[in-house]
Amino acid sequence: MENEMTSKNFIEQMIDKDLAEGVYDTVHTRFPPEPNGYLHIGHAKSILLNYGLARKYGGKFNMRFDDTNPTKEKVEFVESIKADIQWLGADWEDRLYFASDYFEEMYEAAVKLIKKGKAFVCDLTAEEIRSYRGTLTEPGKESPYRNRSIEENLELFEAMRGGKYGDGEKVLRAKIDMASPNINMRDPVIYRVAHISHHNTGDAWCIYPMYDFAHPIEDAIEGITHSICTLEFEDHRPLYDWVVRELEYPVPPRQIEFAKLYLTNVVTGKRYIKKLVEEGIVDGWDDPRLVSIAALRRRGFTPESIRMFVDLCGVSKSQSSVDYAMLEYCIREDLKLKRPRLMAVLDPIKLVIDNYPEGQVEYLEAANNLENEELGTRKIPFCRELYIEREDFMEEPPRKYFRLFPGNEVRLMHAYFVKCESFVKDESGKVTEVHCTYDPETKAGSGFTGRKVKGTIHWVPAPYAMTAQVRLYENIIDEEKGVYNEDGSLNLNPNSLTVVETAYLEPGFAGAKPYDSFQFVRNGFFCVDAKDSREDQLVFNRIVSLKSSFKLPKAQ
Ligand code: ATP
Ligand code: MG
Repeated sequence: MENEMTSKNFIEQMIDKDLAEGVYDTVHTRFPPEPNGYLHIGHAKSILLNYGLARKYGGKFNMRFDDTNPTKEKVEFVESIKADIQWLGADWEDRLYFASDYFEEMYEAAVKLIKKGKAFVCDLTAEEIRSYRGTLTEPGKESPYRNRSIEENLELFEAMRGGKYGDGEKVLRAKIDMASPNINMRDPVIYRVAHISHHNTGDAWCIYPMYDFAHPIEDAIEGITHSICTLEFEDHRPLYDWVVRELEYPVPPRQIEFAKLYLTNVVTGKRYIKKLVEEGIVDGWDDPRLVSIAALRRRGFTPESIRMFVDLCGVSKSQSSVDYAMLEYCIREDLKLKRPRLMAVLDPIKLVIDNYPEGQVEYLEAANNLENEELGTRKIPFCRELYIEREDFMEEPPRKYFRLFPGNEVRLMHAYFVKCESFVKDESGKVTEVHCTYDPETKAGSGFTGRKVKGTIHWVPAPYAMTAQVRLYENIIDEEKGVYNEDGSLNLNPNSLTVVETAYLEPGFAGAKPYDSFQFVRNGFFCVDAKDSREDQLVFNRIVSLKSSFKLPKAQ
C-alpha cells in the first residue's frame, strides 16, 4: 500500500516534468463530453482523473460540452451529464463552458490560417477527398484547389459562412502535407458546411468546425495545460500540435492519451445500450443492470465506491479490461461500515414458536452495525409468529447444515435459541410452517453460556413485517459464453433480473427513502429504487451480494 501512495502515474510524471521545466506554471484540466448520450463508468474514470489532477496540483478543472456536431447532440443530455458529474463530486466551480460559445473565435482562427497560407477551400466531394487521401503505404494526392490564392480562399470561406453553398459542396482544409506518413496530417478537413440548427447557437451558423480543429482551440482559449484524452487520439496529436502552433497561442496546451477503461461482461457502447433500451430489454439508460453513471447511482453505488474503483484501476497506456467484481468489491468496502444491517426475508416460510404466548410481544435491542457502534441500536418486536428464509429449514439436512431441521437448535439473530419440533406441509409437499420452542434463558445479550449452537438465522416478526418488492440482478451478458453471439447479436443472460414480489422486512426499514441503502443481513446490500419505489410499495435493488471470490490485485 505504501508503494501505492508514493508512486506516480505516467501523467503525473509528465506534469511534474512540465512544472519543473517551466513549460507551465499551473495545472488546468477539463472534461469535454459530447452531449450525445449518458455518461458511463469509463467517463467517470476520465472525470475523476482530470478533476483529481487539478486538485492534486492546486490547479483548476473545467467542465466543457464539446458541442460542435449539431447532428447528434441534445439538450436532454446536457442536464444528465451535469447531474452525473456533480454526483461524482467533481467541482467545476464557475467554469462551465460550451465549445459552441467559441464558434466566432474558431472562425477567426480559420481565417488566420488562411491568411498564413495554411488553409484552403476545397471543392472536392467527400468521396474524392477520401480517394485522394492515399493509404498507410501510399502518399496522398494534392487537391487541385490547394493552390487557390489567399484572397480567393478568404472570399470563399466567407461565402461558406454566408450560406452560399449546400452541405458538402465546399470544405475548408488545413494545408499540411499530403505525403505525411500520418494520414491525419494529409490536409485534413477543418470546416464543413451543414445547414442544421444547433441546440445552442440555433441557425446562426451553417458551417461547423471539425473535432480535430475545434478541440485544441477550445483547450487553448480556456488556458488548459494538460488535455487528457483516450488512446484513439494518439495519432491525432501531431495535428493537435500543428493547430496550436500555427495559431500561435502563447501557452500551447499539451495532449496526453491514456487507455480507456473497459469492464468485463458489461455493455458500455452507446449503440448497444440504445438497442437494449429500444427493444425494452432494459427499462431505460438508468436500468440498474447497466453501467451508465445514472444506472450505478440508481442501483445504489456511491460516489466514494466509484472513486475507489477508479483509483484501483490506475492510469495506463496499455489497453486492458477490468473485472466487474472489482467494482463490486469497492461498493462492499464502502458500505460495510456505513450502513445499518437489518433483517429482511426474501423467500419466506412461517416459523411458529409454540411455547411463546399468543398476543405477547417484547422489544429486543439490536445493534444496527456490529462493526460500527455509531450507527446506534434499534428495537425489534419479537413474538410468536415470524418469517424466516425457506432455505434456513430443511427436512432432511445434508452434512454440515447447521440451520433448522427437526430436533436442531439455532439462534434467532438478536433474539433467542429456538429448537425445531415439527413442521407442516401442504398437499404438494411444500413446507408451509416450521414449529419451534424457544428457551427464555438464551436471550441475546443476557450472557447465557449454558450451551452453544452452530447456526444463527435471521427473521422478521410476521405481524409487524413491512413488505417490499426486491429486484435481484446478474450481469446482463452471459459470463461463460462471451458478449456476442455468432450473428453479432448480444448474448443476453436470461436471468439478469429476478423480481421478488413480496419480501418481508423488519419494521426498522420504516421511512426508507429513494437511494437509501442497507445491508440485508446474510444477503447483500440493497438500495431503495428511485424510479419505482413508493411510500406504500417499497422497491429495493440488490446492489451486490455479500460474498465474492474477488481478491484485490497486489499493488504494482
Ligand atoms: P463517442 O465519442 O463515441 O460519442 P465517447 O465515449 O468518446 O463517445 P465523449 O463524450 O467524447 O464520449 O467522451 C468524453 C471524454 O470521456 C473523452 O475525453 C473520452 O476520451 C473519455 N472517455 C470515453 N470513454 C472512456 C472510457 N471507456 N474510459 C476512459 N475515458 C473515456
Ligand atoms: Mg468522443
